[in-house]
Amino acid sequence: MSIRILFDKCTGCTLCVKACPFAAIKMVDRPADAPGKSKKVAVIDLDTCTLCGACVPSCKFAAIELKKELGGKDADLSHYKGVWIFAEQREGKVQSVAYELLTEGKKLAGDLKAELSAVLCGDANIEDEVEHLFAYGADKVYLITHPELKHYHTAPYTRAVAEAITRHKPEIMLLGATTMGRDLAARLAIRVGAGLTADCTGLDIDPGKKTLLQTRPAFGGNIMATIQTVRHRPQMATVRPKVFKKVKSQNPKVKSNENVIKFTPVINPEDLLVKLLEIVEDESVKVNLADAEIIVSGGRGLQEAKNFKLIEELAAVLGGAVGASRATVDAGWISAHHQVGQTGKTVSPKLYIACGIAGKIQHLAGMQSSDTIVAINKDPDAPIFKVATYGIVGDLFEYVPLLTRKLKELRG
Ligand SMILES: Cc1cc2nc3c(=O)[nH]c(=O)nc-3n(C[C@H](O)[C@H](O)[C@H](O)COP(=O)(O)OP(=O)(O)OC[C@H]3O[C@@H](n4cnc5c(N)ncnc54)[C@H](O)[C@@H]3O)c2cc1C
Ligand code: SF4
Ligand code: SF4
Repeated sequence: MSIRILFDKCTGCTLCVKACPFAAIKMVDRPADAPGKSKKVAVIDLDTCTLCGACVPSCKFAAIELKKELGGKDADLSHYKGVWIFAEQREGKVQSVAYELLTEGKKLAGDLKAELSAVLCGDANIEDEVEHLFAYGADKVYLITHPELKHYHTAPYTRAVAEAITRHKPEIMLLGATTMGRDLAARLAIRVGAGLTADCTGLDIDPGKKTLLQTRPAFGGNIMATIQTVRHRPQMATVRPKVFKKVKSQNPKVKSNENVIKFTPVINPEDLLVKLLEIVEDESVKVNLADAEIIVSGGRGLQEAKNFKLIEELAAVLGGAVGASRATVDAGWISAHHQVGQTGKTVSPKLYIACGIAGKIQHLAGMQSSDTIVAINKDPDAPIFKVATYGIVGDLFEYVPLLTRKLKELRG
């Protein structure tokens, strides 16, 4: 985006000076060669301007021109550098998805020979989390603090992160495909005029063009599409939690003032369209599928709701969580918080036991990166066996209680 004052239209009325929340506009003597009549004209300090656009409607003379770079084929994208990830935090703790994005971001930054940065927003206490971001590979952290950023609010977060993007121009920006990340990414993409690919399952760098290859399921999961953002920057993508594994960096950078860029955004009362009254714990967090190391999942092979008891018993003896296919959720046998798959949760436990689940592509999309997959299905041709580490071709009503009984015996 770019902004400029059209001197021939500027009347020197000063309205824009009052409208700019960043004090980026001042009045100066009209340059001798500038067309127009007034003695004074407005000028914008481009180092301070965040391109927020607030001044544009304040000018009654249409003298402020804010242009979105529409990314025509001749657009100069060379000043966009580096890979950024949005470090989502809740209750002052950076969420696992941020470390997963850092791990993947490190590979992308390596391919581009570029720097990897994390953007962390919060109140003053969030600074304690910065060291963890370095431990997972960040070369730099943009630390944006303000009391209003303690909890996620769409408008102030958008303003703060958009300001950082506009000033520092990253080439790639990754966010978690979480409730927060999805909400923020869409707003940011519009605000900074970028492309956005949601819910990616794979990311890579095109070796020739050096663009981001963003792979995601399309047409109901029947094909995998690879999308490139050729003419807009940053290239923005959201990735679901657990799609990538988090790995601590071999060579963590030492936190120093040099690689922590701090700033406090200007947040006006009119940005606070929503007031946070109370935080109510989401029931799905109690199910905690995303973090479970063992998941036992049931499918339509269970025949009716009450048979989920078999799944719960096996999960309990293993200390695991209960998952489900969408067919069982749609049938009302179990709540949607348990659904695994493309439109449910993406999980990557150490052990995933699929009982009476066919293994359609939309279910596999949510669990196939599990370390060990055990499938129990009476149909030897069920697609779940293609991804299973161990398969039992047989009746779940026989094998699930048998497994539960044997495990109980083993554990005394
Ligand atoms: C856009 C879209 C998004 C979707 N998102 C998801 C998603 O997020 N998650 C998801 O799961 N699905 C999703 N689906 C639905 C998906 O396509 C399948 O319909 C669904 O996963 C089927 O669930 P199932 O395997 O439990 O049921 P079925 O396909 O009916 O399979 C039941 C299996 O149980 C076996 N079986 C039956 N009786 C027994 C027995 N006694 N012992 C052992 N095995 C037995 C059968 O052989 C069969 O393989 C989505 C579909 C679409 C179009
Ligand atoms: S509001 Fe418009 S006309 Fe008035 S000083 Fe600013 S740019 Fe000039
Ligand atoms: S775009 Fe925003 S920051 Fe820039 S001069 Fe206008 S009001 Fe100020």
